[in-house]
Amino acid sequence: MKRLTISFIATVFLSLSLFAQDKVVKSVLELGRTDNRTMEHADYIARNIGGRIVGSHMLNHAEDWVASQFRSWGLEVTVQEAVEIGVGFDRGPWSGRMLSEDGMVLHFGTPAYTAGTRGPQKGRVYLEPKNQREFDRVKGALKGSWVLLDTGPTSGLAIDASPKADSTRAALLAKGEEGSVLMYRQMVDAGVLGFIRPSKLPMQVLYNRAMCFNLTMDNLPKACDILLDEHQFAQIRQKVVDRQDFQLEFDIRNHFFPGPMKYHNILAVIKGSKYPDEYVMMGSHLDAYDIATGSTDDGQGVCVTLEAARLLAASGAKPKRSIMFCIWTGEEYGLLGSKYFVQNKTVPWDKISNYFNRDGGPLAATSVTVPPAMYDDFVEACKPLFDYNPDIPFTVNKREGEPQARPTSAGGSDHAYFAMNGVPAISFRESDIFGYDFIYRDIWHTEDDLYDKLIPAYMEHSAVVQAVTAYGLANLDHLLSRTGLYKD
Ligand SMILES: [Zn+2]
Repeated sequence: MKRLTISFIATVFLSLSLFAQDKVVKSVLELGRTDNRTMEHADYIARNIGGRIVGSHMLNHAEDWVASQFRSWGLEVTVQEAVEIGVGFDRGPWSGRMLSEDGMVLHFGTPAYTAGTRGPQKGRVYLEPKNQREFDRVKGALKGSWVLLDTGPTSGLAIDASPKADSTRAALLAKGEEGSVLMYRQMVDAGVLGFIRPSKLPMQVLYNRAMCFNLTMDNLPKACDILLDEHQFAQIRQKVVDRQDFQLEFDIRNHFFPGPMKYHNILAVIKGSKYPDEYVMMGSHLDAYDIATGSTDDGQGVCVTLEAARLLAASGAKPKRSIMFCIWTGEEYGLLGSKYFVQNKTVPWDKISNYFNRDGGPLAATSVTVPPAMYDDFVEACKPLFDYNPDIPFTVNKREGEPQARPTSAGGSDHAYFAMNGVPAISFRESDIFGYDFIYRDIWHTEDDLYDKLIPAYMEHSAVVQAVTAYGLANLDHLLSRTGLYKD
């Protein structure tokens, strides 16, 4: 009798807790359909904030906004300082034109942490001298002029003006070599306004990787570093070759200011009821190049992560294990935020069930492929997704064949340092299931990374997938198995 009672109570308790669990998942699925706010977050990040480069006030503003969003939904937020840069950089408007009878508006960009003009600057245009003899022929004319560099299409990084690059160039010149950019330092010292390089379209414009962390207010870049539409570049170059009389005018508001500027990972937690020290994690990076608005890279990821958190919080989720939402900083400058988090063992590596990264275009999470030892757990966690949206089916796949070796170098995105340290960092497969001809390569790090490239149906769906999966894994009575994760 006594036994019966205990098992009866246990059964009731079990079904009550299953019922409660169902209620949260049901609510997430329902809110995901009827009150999905992913695109509201995107509107704010892409259209109100815009570009968010490390060094800018906008990235600090974005951090504050993300933290306040999480707090408003009742999550515990930790602001973790992860990056410091000595000199700050904000970007204002930029414009340029060719001053001549057939004048034109110029289509160009400048890498972050390169010089602006302090007001409109106009000057004549010269082809670059490629050896000492050519330099000597024009050195008196270079002051106050623009110089075309024959570099061919660029990666979008600034010209390397570090002392090391200067001495490499000097050594090449001493050996009698000639070539593009070799006379760089001599031209700067002669007082050029700036350099112009051709850019393929859409324009990819990055930053001053070589120098940005070594700048002080006393050694700021002086000459502009302009990437110009390659078609306009070719036209202008021909005019110079033909010795036509014209000028170019640029007004570029690139603003340096004294730092240090500090940047942070924003870590928000729904605390676990039974295993609060164990975590299921997901994340995306907040920093973004500032030639456009970082809408797909990685605004969309941030919005999906935010909405997954909001859906769970609004559904009253109280998972057994903690769920952490990580909004990383400094990804574009070398995964700085996630690297700091992992290397400092902010969460001990053996307490992380899985880290889901989202940073690859505004596509739909349609499947996940896992090692055999994780398969049953993922099926259990993802079950509510299998018939959620018939137009976007979701599947869990068992990995076939041998595991890969654990990565030894960091690349890609913020999952890298987790994976290198043996922490499961399995991500969802994302696809363009409706066939919208989305090609991430066309947008990635370019002037076209704008709000109108986002695909709401995919992003809204992905927020639900991430919320349901994380919640399911957090409710297991064990962490995910690492057996067969990597070849060891
Ligand atoms: Zn990215």
